[in-house]
Amino acid sequence: MRSKIRKQKRSDKAHEREEQMAQDEMDKNKLQVTEFVTANELASMMDLQVTQIIAACMSLGMMVSINQRLDAETIAIVAEEFGFEVEFVSADMVEAVEEEEDDPDTLEPRAPIVTVMGHVDHGKTSLLDYIRSANVVKGEAGGITQHIGAYEVKLESGKKITFLDTPGHEAFTAMRARGAKLTDVVIIVIAADDSVMPQTKEAISHAQAAGVPIVFALNKIDRDAANPDRIREQLSAMNILVEEWGGKYQCQEISAKKGIGIESLLDKVLLEAEILDLKANPNKRAVGNIIESTLDKGRGIVTTVMVASGTMRVGDPILAGVNSGKVKAMFDERGKKMASAGPSTPVVILGFDGAPQAGDKFIITKTEPEAREIANKRQQLQREQGIRTNKHITLDEIGRRLAIGNFKELKVIVKGDVDGSVEALADSLIKLSTEEVQVSVIYKAVGQISESDIMLASASDAIIVGFQVRPSTQARKLAEQEAIDIRLYSIIYNAIEEIKSAIEGMLEPTIEEKILGNAQIREVFKITKVGTVAGCMVTDGKLVRNAKIRLIRDGVVVFSGALSSLKRFKDDAKEVASGFDCGLTIHNYNDMREGDYVEAYEEVEVKRKLK
Ligand code: GDP
Repeated sequence: MRSKIRKQKRSDKAHEREEQMAQDEMDKNKLQVTEFVTANELASMMDLQVTQIIAACMSLGMMVSINQRLDAETIAIVAEEFGFEVEFVSADMVEAVEEEEDDPDTLEPRAPIVTVMGHVDHGKTSLLDYIRSANVVKGEAGGITQHIGAYEVKLESGKKITFLDTPGHEAFTAMRARGAKLTDVVIIVIAADDSVMPQTKEAISHAQAAGVPIVFALNKIDRDAANPDRIREQLSAMNILVEEWGGKYQCQEISAKKGIGIESLLDKVLLEAEILDLKANPNKRAVGNIIESTLDKGRGIVTTVMVASGTMRVGDPILAGVNSGKVKAMFDERGKKMASAGPSTPVVILGFDGAPQAGDKFIITKTEPEAREIANKRQQLQREQGIRTNKHITLDEIGRRLAIGNFKELKVIVKGDVDGSVEALADSLIKLSTEEVQVSVIYKAVGQISESDIMLASASDAIIVGFQVRPSTQARKLAEQEAIDIRLYSIIYNAIEEIKSAIEGMLEPTIEEKILGNAQIREVFKITKVGTVAGCMVTDGKLVRNAKIRLIRDGVVVFSGALSSLKRFKDDAKEVASGFDCGLTIHNYNDMREGDYVEAYEEVEVKRKLK
């Protein structure tokens, strides 16, 4: 309905606006707003009377008051009425401090920031340790005494590389989820005596989703079993061709233990960095990101930050997220006091009034009261937005974002029980792309939905589609916290149909599953004539005798069906609540095992809200 009005208005105003556009500069007509600004605030941003906004809303059939907060769609339509384009930004952006502009002449080369990722036990820690100790021996007296989450190494050539010492793609993606582009180059370590593992694939997807160049380190070549060509082959099967095979990915054979090939590896990293032409202006107030922050009993809040550009000095007023303070002292990774820190330098600082979150952007402000005031405003905005907005994309939200007109790509993570169904589902989803909306599968894999999947979804604003799999308990919690839409299906056709409807902006009322509860199988008994009886404990919700059930093993659905009996002690039970034991048999199924979960669910008709 609103979109119709909008189209009508659009044509009425079309030529008027064309003239206007010619006169005005484009930028002047762009508004940066947070969702849920009030009618009054919107009026003052556009330099109008609030009554004009109220009138515009009335013409859309909405009665609003001066201090009423408007949703994104209304803001976009009303602003368009008056010839403004809106861009929705987060609270941090609006209450942002202007970063000083850089004149291209003031830019100087800066060191690349590198993250090491890869499968567990493939040698990430050994590589970082080797690089660090080699550096310490050659470098200054006094080893690196503290783990501060990052450190800088100086190569013999005099060039520097900064390593983020938070191995693992989870940390990498968690940072990115908070908007921090902290890594310039990723090293992915693969043990040459092993193979490309699921976590290796995950790391590759995470780096690719972030658009960061990758250098492969084929580790453990000192081992007899090492076969680096097999790794190259497995990579090429994933469409990743290494340089020596005519591709674009740099690759180096190394031994982190013996120190073989490490210098060449670092040279390759520097080559990638050179292509990126990394530069920053050191002569301004510093900006950068928070790497980690902890509360130390004696020293208060201890925060490791990475300076992105500018120079940080002791005494500077600082602001990060909803926290502020003054840099009281600065230390390097050797615990040595520093007076200043330039671009790509990690540094430990004291002086924040609270612990900012990893990935938060920090900025040095002109004065301390300024930092404090902005931090307070952000806290307030965050509280409001936290209550009212859904941060991430959901199927229901697609219609709303299409209306706003800023929705171009639906990113999907596909997890499934077997390779065949993952491939089939991913292919069919990609084929759903229309002119308006491109569907991209940013990651697909076999297995249960993990925390790392949720972080990737959060960083990339993706939805997760699970076929015959379930999220782990932690993943479920994290998904709730991050407001990630997880869709679980048992029939590929349903998955495709539902996403198709969402893209076409017409989610019909559908049958949705409601999980009633889960029980864990503690013991199984084989009883002749009866079959397998499972002794269970209901872990959450309840089991219901007549409900449908699924049997879940390691996060994967192994059977769907119904119960044939549910008992408390010797008696038949209609339902069994959380915390109680029960015995059950499954209709036409006997292969229950200890540790399996029985999930009970019912189907309910849900009317989807179309906004
Ligand atoms: P991470 O889990 O990826 O951090 O892996 P680690 O660095 O902890 O290494 C796992 C194991 O592999 C350790 O026992 C290391 O000693 C061993 N390792 C790592 N690099 C090499 C190598 O280049 N050669 C050999 N032979 N062993 C290595």
